[in-house]
Amino acid sequence: MSKQTGVACECSGCGGPQWYEKGVCQGCGSEAGIAFTWVAKTEKGGTPSAAPTDVLRLEAGVGAQLADVWTNLVLVRGLSPYLTSSGQAVMQYSSAPWYVERGVDMTVQCTLPTDPGFADKLNRASSWTNQSFLVRIVTTFEAFAGGKRMSSVRLPNNPGMREFHHARRLRNKIAHGDALTDQRLKDEAIQLFGPQAVVDGSCNLDISIVLEPLWARLLLYARSLEDGASVPTRPAVVVAVHDSYYLAQTFVGILKVARSGAGLTAGDVVSLLDSA
Ligand SMILES: [Zn+2]
Repeated sequence: MSKQTGVACECSGCGGPQWYEKGVCQGCGSEAGIAFTWVAKTEKGGTPSAAPTDVLRLEAGVGAQLADVWTNLVLVRGLSPYLTSSGQAVMQYSSAPWYVERGVDMTVQCTLPTDPGFADKLNRASSWTNQSFLVRIVTTFEAFAGGKRMSSVRLPNNPGMREFHHARRLRNKIAHGDALTDQRLKDEAIQLFGPQAVVDGSCNLDISIVLEPLWARLLLYARSLEDGASVPTRPAVVVAVHDSYYLAQTFVGILKVARSGAGLTAGDVVSLLDSA
């Protein structure tokens, strides 16, 4: 079993440190006064210890690294889509439409007949890949934190902070091999990504429903803390580029945006200020 880590906040509405839960300060039930949060030991009763004085800063390059991790995941998963032909041999399969829209359009031909359990095996490997992606994303934040431990810094309350705490809790469970069935984890997943974020009593790491919006919001959070970087007004993260439009993840969902010629790549951060 992994240890639970709590999240505390510094809230101008309450004065001293308070516990942070589901996007609000537990002291006053509002997010209005939260300036920072930090990782803290969960203890029954009492208030969390005082906030660390150092504020998280991320070294230059963290955004580029997060974009690289994502584009590799999409390519690998486009080659290993979830298969539904369980119970029979598989000779050939193709990238699912979600990957095709993102530029990965492949057909895999098996050179020998696969065993009857191949689809299940490939699906388990795909789940493992999704879990490994989450571990790597959180590790990237830690690696670029200037040598500071996450538990020793304040996390500024910029958009994406809440998602970072969620990703970190998922990472801790995954690294221990634990099931993603904690009620708190499931509640947070649904609040952040909608009802499909929980399937069969467990957090769903589906690439389209959870991982892409989670990654995009974490990229924006990282950029807000990265040396030499910034986040534009009405930010969005490009996830698919086509001749006449592109798809962009935002804090309020995925948008289809008309394109006016400029070069764009998945992982680019753009401003939607001029769009409808
Ligand atoms: Zn408060």
